[in-house]
Amino acid sequence: MENLEKIQTAARIIRENPGKGMAFTGAGISVESGIPPFRGADGLWSKVDPSFIEIDTFRRAPEECWSKIRELFYDHWGQAKPNAAHIRLAEMLNRGLLAGIVTQNIDCLHQRAGAPEEKISEFHGTLDSLICMKCSAVYGPDHSLLEQNLPSCPKCGGVLKPDFVFFGEGIPEKAFHKAFYLAERCAWCLIIGTSGEVMPACEVPRTAHRHGAKIIEINPAPTTFTSSITDVFLQGKATEMMEALAAESALS
Ligand code: NAD
Repeated sequence: MENLEKIQTAARIIRENPGKGMAFTGAGISVESGIPPFRGADGLWSKVDPSFIEIDTFRRAPEECWSKIRELFYDHWGQAKPNAAHIRLAEMLNRGLLAGIVTQNIDCLHQRAGAPEEKISEFHGTLDSLICMKCSAVYGPDHSLLEQNLPSCPKCGGVLKPDFVFFGEGIPEKAFHKAFYLAERCAWCLIIGTSGEVMPACEVPRTAHRHGAKIIEINPAPTTFTSSITDVFLQGKATEMMEALAAESALS
């Protein structure tokens, strides 16, 4: 099937099941916003050793870890803006086509594109808040705390950590339940820009598939999902495919 025909098939699935869809997004949706993925030839881990976001390393040497975290995640990623794919997805949510978004990303670009907070499951947490390692107080996007070499809790003096999931940590309970609640009930699942190699996140679209959902996938390259659960594979960049899908789904 040519891409146009596939886009029409995907749009028909969406139109026939309004409000019964979910999206599952990964690093690839933010590539065109200037944020690199972690894996692959141009991925972050080909240039930087990821140990600074391992929880045991962070506990042992928080100040050293913070200097890399600040530079990579807050200074570089902080400038990123949502792209057309984030914007189209937010429109799908706001027009009632999508029931929710489950994202593995920590960059808050879905919210910045206009997607309501309560409709998003941030499966791996977020860069937008900091959590105290001692008293669990959470601080929102007031980043004056980031100016300290070792950000510390104004209440108890404990070390603050970005509220995303470090290697060695569990998935936030609320986001986990929200994700599988959506997956078990949706009629279609739109996967965008993820290799599907991160556990347990990759189980979210697989659960949707097991519960009978049609799987539409957008990625420039085939993934672990493509030959196993995907019904309609839209091969291409997130922005191009989402613009085409939006046009065919009468979203424009
Ligand atoms: P990944 O690095 O494993 O895979 C990225 C995928 O994006 C690949 O399949 C690649 O082919 C695809 N891709 C590349 N360019 C694309 C484009 N223009 N449009 C659509 N797809 C494109 O990423 P992952 O599967 O998300 O897993 C890595 C983990 O790292 C995730 O859990 C995520 O939390 C985290 N991460 C987050 C961000 C972010 O917040 N923006 C960035 C990097 C990594």
